[in-house]
Amino acid sequence: MTARLLDGLGLARRIHGEIRPEVAAFAAKHGRPPGLAIVLVGADPASEVYVRNKLRSGAEIGFRADLERLPASATTADVLALVRRLNASPVHDGVLVQSPLPRAMGDDAGQRIFDAIVPSKDVDGLTPVNMGLLVQKRAQFVACTPSGVVELLEREGIQIAGRHAVVIGRSDIVGKPMALLLLHRDATVTIAHSRTRNLEALCRQADILVAAVGRPGLVTKGFVKPGATVVDVGINSMTDEGTVLGLFPEGHRRLALFRAKGSVLVGDVHPEVAEVAGALTPVPGGVGPLTIAMLMRNTLHAALMAHGA
Ligand code: NAD
Repeated sequence: MTARLLDGLGLARRIHGEIRPEVAAFAAKHGRPPGLAIVLVGADPASEVYVRNKLRSGAEIGFRADLERLPASATTADVLALVRRLNASPVHDGVLVQSPLPRAMGDDAGQRIFDAIVPSKDVDGLTPVNMGLLVQKRAQFVACTPSGVVELLEREGIQIAGRHAVVIGRSDIVGKPMALLLLHRDATVTIAHSRTRNLEALCRQADILVAAVGRPGLVTKGFVKPGATVVDVGINSMTDEGTVLGLFPEGHRRLALFRAKGSVLVGDVHPEVAEVAGALTPVPGGVGPLTIAMLMRNTLHAALMAHGA
């Protein structure tokens, strides 16, 4: 069996097309486009790429999309002051603080900063209010990556109700909201994490397996029940030839790409899983583009809510 590839990139483009007229209608009615502010602290190379892609997509669809940059030396107080300014901004409907924050800011900086975002502009769904509403199945804003995964599963006609879903990863931004979204669609959900025992055997029970770990190729064939749907959330930039050779055999197109560029993006799911899975999201071109599409949708939603829609 060769898995059906779930085309996240194609779906993201369709969603952008669906949003574009609504963005234009908002701008015509209110005399300004819906606005998104992205706060980037420091210059983490992966974050630079993610933020650039978010800003570009936003501008293409018709949003006002602004980068608010602070140096890596910024303090928590500096970021809090910026977040408070954006909370009060009349032209920004959504405020997103890009993770990760510089380590030097300390372990609790992220939580303190996310807590400061006004829930009505929290397009990443990370404030306690929005997390709590999600738990109670009355969410306003849900983290963009797990929302994108559910959107893809539903539009691809993959049944969720009554299925056993295993989510590997328990972060606030992916694993936990992912598990809740699947639960709310009547899946039986197991959350696995770094301390889970017999991970491989557990995953083999899944009808839907979501990997959100950050370990290249962790999910091998043995983790997957034949015919299962496998969603690969991981994004890992590999620069070590030994690891890449463990994922792609000699002669593989991606290996040639790696040798030409010196790096290659891989997921948490080993490419060999395509031989057993029923459906699989590729990396790149799977979940990543949907994360951006959901950010755009959340920002439009925030703008409409701010105007009583
Ligand atoms: P995180 O580091 O916050 O969480 C990783 C989780 O994996 C933890 O809950 C941990 O318990 C679990 N884990 C670690 N090692 C494990 C192991 N050996 N076995 C089982 N579980 C293990 O990461 P995150 O922010 O949730 O992101 C996870 C991955 O998803 C990363 O690769 C990240 O780059 C990627 N990501 C992708 C998108 C996207 O748009 N596609 C968005 C966000 C994150």
